[in-house]
Amino acid sequence: MVAPFTYAVSPSRIVFGAGSVCRLAEMVEAQGCKRALFLSTRPQQQMANEVAGRLGPLAAGVFADAAMHTPVDVTERAIAAYKAASADCIIAIGGGSTIGLGKAIAYRNDAPQIVVATTYAGSEVTPILGQTENGVKTTVRHPRILPEVVIYDPDLTLGLPVAMSISSGLNAMAHAVEGLYAQDRNPISSMMAMEGIRALKQSLPKILLRPSDIDARSQALYGSWLCGTVLGAVGMALHHKLCHTLGGSFDLPHAETHAVLLPHSAAYNAKAAAEALAPAADLFGGPIGGGLHTFAASLGAPLTLKDLGMKEADLDRAAELATRAPYWNPRPIEQQAIRALLQAAWEGAPPQ
Ligand code: NAD
Repeated sequence: MVAPFTYAVSPSRIVFGAGSVCRLAEMVEAQGCKRALFLSTRPQQQMANEVAGRLGPLAAGVFADAAMHTPVDVTERAIAAYKAASADCIIAIGGGSTIGLGKAIAYRNDAPQIVVATTYAGSEVTPILGQTENGVKTTVRHPRILPEVVIYDPDLTLGLPVAMSISSGLNAMAHAVEGLYAQDRNPISSMMAMEGIRALKQSLPKILLRPSDIDARSQALYGSWLCGTVLGAVGMALHHKLCHTLGGSFDLPHAETHAVLLPHSAAYNAKAAAEALAPAADLFGGPIGGGLHTFAASLGAPLTLKDLGMKEADLDRAAELATRAPYWNPRPIEQQAIRALLQAAWEGAPPQ
C-alpha cells in the first residue's frame, strides 16, 4: 500500500548541461531584469569576472566577499553594493557560501536570484538560509529564499579540487540518505534520493581518478541537484542536527563534517529506518553504515572528527548540545548513544 503523503512542486527553473552558463543573459532577461550584481568568494572572483564580462551591460558588477556561514555584516555590505550599482537581480556563482549570501540579500529585498552552482552542497534548490550574527548561527525557511533559476554547468566544476569534490559529494549524499527516512517523505522525494545517491556513488570514484572527466562531473552535479532537492523538500533529522551543532559551535568545516558523520548517523538509524534505507543499503552492499564508511574510505574522504580539528574534550558538550532540543528522528535521540556515535566518528572507527 502507498502510504498517504503530501507533495509540493518546487517553482525553481533548472537549466542543466555543459555550456549552460552561456544562457545567463537569457535567464536575466526572462526575469524581466536589466542589471545583475554578481556574487562570489575571493577565490572565485576571477571566474565571476569572466562570466560577468560576457554579459556586457546586463552585469552591474561583482561583489566578491561571500564568506562561510553568511555573516550578516557581509550581507549588509552586499545590499549596499546592490543599491549603489542600481542592480535589479543577483547572480551567485559558487558553492553554499556564495549562494547563502544571495539568499540573505533576497530574503531582505526580494531580489530575483539566479544561481550558478559550482559545488555539490545543494543550497541552490532549498528555501533555507543559515546566517551568522554575533557568533550565533540561525536558520530561516521562507519562499523568498528559494532561487528562481539554477544553472548547473559541469564545465564550471572541473576546477573544484578533488578533496572538496569528494567531501561535497558526500555532503549531497547525506541529504538524500536522511531524505529516505524523513517523516514527511513522499514517493517522489524517495525516488530522487535514490537516483541522487546512485549518481554520486558512480561518479565520485571516477572524479577521484580523473578530475577532468566531464561525464563524471556532469553525473555528480546531476546527483547533487537531486539530493539538494530532497533537502529542500523534506525534513532532516539527526545527521543534519549533528553537523549543524559541530559546524556552528565548534567551527568544523561544513562538507567534511557531513562526510565524516554520514556513516555513523546512518548506522544509528539503520534499524529504526530499515525499510526506508533498504535500497541504499543494497546499493552499498551491506549494512548502510558500514557500506557508507567503506565507500568514503575508498575515496580518501576524511573519516575522523579528530582530523577536522575537533577536540576529544569537547565531545561531551557536543553530545549535550545536539540532544538538548527535541526533534524528530526515526530512532529516539539517546544522549549516551549520541556520545558513543561522536566518539566513533572522532576516532574514525567503522560504525557498528
Ligand atoms: P563553499 O561555498 O564555502 O566553497 C568552498 C570553497 O570552494 C570556496 O572558497 C569556494 O569559492 C570554492 N569553490 C567552490 N566551487 C568551486 C569550483 N568549482 N572551483 C574552484 N573553487 C570552488 O562550500 P560549500 O560546501 O559549497 O558550502 C558550504 C556552506 O553552504 C555552509 O555555510 C553551509 O551551511 C551552506 N549550505 C546551506 C544549505 C542550505 O540549504 N541553506 C545547503 C548546503 C550548504
